[in-house]
Amino acid sequence: MEIKKVAVIGAGTMGNGIAHVFAQNNFKVEFIDISEEYLIKGLGTIRKNLERQLKKEIITESVLNSTMDNISKIVGVENISNDVNLVIEAVTENKELKLSIYKKICGLVNDNCIISSNTSSISITELGAVCRPEKFIGMHFMNPVPIMKLVEIIRGYSTSDETYNKIKDVTVKLGKTPVEVNDYPGFISNRVLMPMINEAIYTLYENVASTEDIDNVMKLGMAHPMGPLQLADFIGLDVCLAIMNVLHEGFNDSKYRPCPLLKKMVAANMLGRKTGEGFYKY
Ligand code: NAD
Repeated sequence: MEIKKVAVIGAGTMGNGIAHVFAQNNFKVEFIDISEEYLIKGLGTIRKNLERQLKKEIITESVLNSTMDNISKIVGVENISNDVNLVIEAVTENKELKLSIYKKICGLVNDNCIISSNTSSISITELGAVCRPEKFIGMHFMNPVPIMKLVEIIRGYSTSDETYNKIKDVTVKLGKTPVEVNDYPGFISNRVLMPMINEAIYTLYENVASTEDIDNVMKLGMAHPMGPLQLADFIGLDVCLAIMNVLHEGFNDSKYRPCPLLKKMVAANMLGRKTGEGFYKY
């Protein structure tokens, strides 16, 4: 069955970007959150981002209008339609919450429907165990979704080849580049990125160099667009710590131990941009 209609659950940072790219590429999108207010806010962000694309002449006015027309709002996952071909879950990073949603929708969507999660760090195998594991898969989009080209496609222990191939094709239709990943902690992106950020924090903690100099080495010497400490502030130090803990527990390997300075800053609510202070002041 061809994928034509999708449901995006969660209208936050990632959900609105995911709904945007599907709708812009002619998929019908059910945009689902817990309240009308969140959906209106998410749709407002989508419109603002489309208007920016229009101004830069990346899209036409008719694409803007058709994209908005392709999205319908739905309050509550229990109101999901039976005829969606794919669900992309992008709710808050909480395993129990995600599992409760899959349990609710499993009997509501048709038997061919594929269910995917945009989780950054939870095991796809564990999430998929509660509802049709062979049709469960990870679709890890990057922030900001309309701009970033990569989608990590994560195969859980039981994900079928048929499910993988369908999701790979859909990703290409979105104009994105899929990367096939087997389900292990941190997938590829966070397994490589987070230890680098954690090591940059250790470098600061051991007083090897200043915040600015550590970032400058990676920006000017390694051509990274952002230094690792600045990037940590952008991601949120609480999110960095949570992902380091997932790697540490998942691999039982001390090389992933989170830096004590990272733990201390999270305890002090110095979470980066979102709280106004992290390694830098905002
Ligand atoms: P967010 O907090 O911006 O948005 C989460 C949304 O989920 C909110 O609008 C919330 O109301 C909604 N939600 C919560 N419970 C719900 C329910 N029962 N039913 C429907 N909607 C519900 O979070 P986010 O940053 O968009 O992250 C979403 C997912 O994407 C997480 O799993 C996260 O790990 C992953 N992710 C985030 C990023 C990032 O840079 N922010 C990048 C890649 C992946």
